[in-house]
Amino acid sequence: MSLPEINSRERFKPILFTNDASNESYYRISLGNLQFGGDEIVLIAGPCAVESEEQILLSATLAKEVGVKMLRGGIFKPRTSPYSFQGLGMPALEWFRKAADKVSLPIVSEVMDVEQVDQFEPYVDVLQIGSRNMQNFSLLKRVGQSHRPILLKRGMSATYWELINAAMYIAEEGNTQIILCERGIRTFSDFTRNTFDVAIIPKLKQECKLPVIADPSHASGDSKLVIPLALSAIAAGADGIMVEFHPNPQQAKSDAKQALSPEQLKTLALQLRSLAVAMGRRFGE
Ligand code: PEP
Ligand code: MN
Repeated sequence: MSLPEINSRERFKPILFTNDASNESYYRISLGNLQFGGDEIVLIAGPCAVESEEQILLSATLAKEVGVKMLRGGIFKPRTSPYSFQGLGMPALEWFRKAADKVSLPIVSEVMDVEQVDQFEPYVDVLQIGSRNMQNFSLLKRVGQSHRPILLKRGMSATYWELINAAMYIAEEGNTQIILCERGIRTFSDFTRNTFDVAIIPKLKQECKLPVIADPSHASGDSKLVIPLALSAIAAGADGIMVEFHPNPQQAKSDAKQALSPEQLKTLALQLRSLAVAMGRRFGE
């Protein structure tokens, strides 16, 4: 018996690839005047979780001031332990939308199951599929029917082809507005939460038509490492960065160790601005 050849490109419809005859151009995902996949470098930032109306409003205001173009924030959190903070659910999504409208920024938040998609669609600009759900095929198919763009995070143990296949599940349902996100993978290296696989960024950019961003917060698990990893991702060709920050990191109810302070977020934005110039790209205009 021969094993199926899982790496063969013939097994995939070419819709998401750059080198098929039908298409030369990249998918660009537009949200108002924001664009993923063009010459802009997009900074997405916000707390791991929306914790209160005040916390998300303050986060939104601070983020806007430094040039963040999209807000992130968890409503339902996928936590390893059932005893950890699980997110505040739908009331938090209303606070999130209200805060974002106040500063005129779009929002992204994670849907953990199929039922949440209907609930989230009226509120969020982008639906996030988290690392733990990268191979939740019913969820991928459901968001493939959504009119909202999808931020698809790489599974923590997913290969390049598994990530591409997850994107194909979404695209096959008709939604090709997909932003891929490298967020670190599990390796034997134990000094960071995950190992940031920077090489997948140019690989995806070269082979695939989709915008690619990086999440150095979950990749490192350490606020002191977030800025250097973010810069490396942009140097490798990423279209954006998603980071966690908190108005008061020590008080964060989840992922406190990786949360940037408002000061650190400002530093990141300044450095991304300089790097954008070196890379011939735009940031924060
Ligand atoms: C998140 O972005 O909130 C998150 C839980 O990340 P990941 O799915 O990459 O662990
Ligand atoms: Mn988090």
